[in-house]
Amino acid sequence: MQKMIQLIAIFCWCGFAVAHNHDQHKGFDIKVTDLGSRIFELRTDRSGNVAVLIGEDGVFMVDTQMEHLAELIDGAQKKLSNNRDVDLILNTHFHRDHVRGNAYFKERGAITMAHPNVRRYLENPGALKALGREAPKFTPQYFPTIDVTEDTSIKMNGQSIELYYAPNAHTNSDLFVAFKEANIIHGGDLVSTRRFPFIDIDNGGSIAGFIAGLKAIIEAADADTQIIAGHGPIATLGDLEASIAMLNETHNIIKALIDQGLSLEAIKALDPLNKYTDKWNWAFITTERMVTTHYYDITGLLE
Ligand SMILES: [Zn+2]
Repeated sequence: MQKMIQLIAIFCWCGFAVAHNHDQHKGFDIKVTDLGSRIFELRTDRSGNVAVLIGEDGVFMVDTQMEHLAELIDGAQKKLSNNRDVDLILNTHFHRDHVRGNAYFKERGAITMAHPNVRRYLENPGALKALGREAPKFTPQYFPTIDVTEDTSIKMNGQSIELYYAPNAHTNSDLFVAFKEANIIHGGDLVSTRRFPFIDIDNGGSIAGFIAGLKAIIEAADADTQIIAGHGPIATLGDLEASIAMLNETHNIIKALIDQGLSLEAIKALDPLNKYTDKWNWAFITTERMVTTHYYDITGLLE
């Protein structure tokens, strides 16, 4: 059975590889995947994954990555759009690796939209105490100019683009985006394929909200939906279900230790999530950081 799963995985990767184009720019590589219906994933693996929808009505972009990658992203979309500038941008949430290209594209005429909390967090971010880092400050050229919610309806290039608000999930500014006719979803950072997710509890994120957000994506999808991840490869419903199961299991493990009266340091010393390391650990959200996230989520001690 394991062999069969590996074979299917290799086949799928080859299938995606056929549709990829690579482009080099200042040492960075961009991978363009044609998902059909004139929707493309633009992926550098240096930052959040971008989607573009291209057609007569213009170029619609989901997320803008980092400023130093914006020219590369724009060059890739211009090859697809016959040299058009980006017209309309939606930021899935406020994190810098999804919004820092905003200034570049706004200068070239793009209109930027996001949930109202994106602007609020960009102006006044939480301290990132759970990560032990300073929160980056943003200036107005990065701010989205139009507030949108899940009640907003966008019709463009033959697609009905539906927005779904996932409250208190990865942050408290998350929208995921469904291209209904194409059956494609951009999940933002609710989808971090086959990795421990970053749940930014300093900025309104929570484990319960994150799980609810994943369930909302599953509800909006079907078995054929192509789900663009915030980070990592195109996800399946199985990937989302595996994330939910992992989060529930790891929550229960840490909750039981907190209920025994253990401190964060004592829990970390036990390495209680080590059986999840092989499958889920990565450079940013290590197994230990996942322990810390659950600890603060359950105890609320960051408040
Ligand atoms: Zn994020």
